[in-house]
Amino acid sequence: MSQATVLLVEDEKDIQTVVEFNLERAGFKVLKATDGLDGLRRAQSEHPDLVVLDLMLPGLDGKEVCRRLKQGEDTRHIPILMLTALSSETDRIIGFEIGADDYLTKPFSPRELVLRVQAILRRAQEQPEAEAPLKTAGLVIDPQRHLALAGDRELDLTATEFKLLHHLAARAGRVQTRQMLLERVWGYAYEGYARTVDTHVRRLRRKLGRFSDRIETVRGIGYRFREKP
Ligand code: CA
Repeated sequence: MSQATVLLVEDEKDIQTVVEFNLERAGFKVLKATDGLDGLRRAQSEHPDLVVLDLMLPGLDGKEVCRRLKQGEDTRHIPILMLTALSSETDRIIGFEIGADDYLTKPFSPRELVLRVQAILRRAQEQPEAEAPLKTAGLVIDPQRHLALAGDRELDLTATEFKLLHHLAARAGRVQTRQMLLERVWGYAYEGYARTVDTHVRRLRRKLGRFSDRIETVRGIGYRFREKP
């Protein structure tokens, strides 16, 4: 992934400089935008491999940029790492609700940002596991076609949600701790990021609709996929 392109949308000059420097040093090609609208247009025209998106931006804010990217046929697959000065859980959840793949709160270490970018890209670029579709009481999860069906309804899942669902379903009946899920689905396991798993599970359950109870919460430990409703 040495020449992957990262679009950095950030209006604060100091942060822009330090992030650009560190990403370039790690081998990325860096494109820049300093307001939301310009960021959106560059993402639409240049199709970067990933967008690092500040939440508070002049013009169009980061939330709106994220929403529009996730609505666009051509751009919805581009992973987004959100940056924000706000650290409350609510803001973190909002970030995930609108489709961000990961979240970093300012001040952050540039090194951590680079690690996150690498982990997200690794996840996005991983070849689908050469496995037969999983079929389990009304649910079909096909890793090769990246297709999940609940009954006859096709689920609109992000890459991370799909991987999470597939990971859980492939280990039906076995408890998966948040730590295990972070390591295997997200590719990293930082202290304090267990909530990331909870937020994604909540969103996945909502998308599963009447199949939502197939993902069972094991209190204080993690999650377990039920083979039968
Ligand atoms: Ca800002």
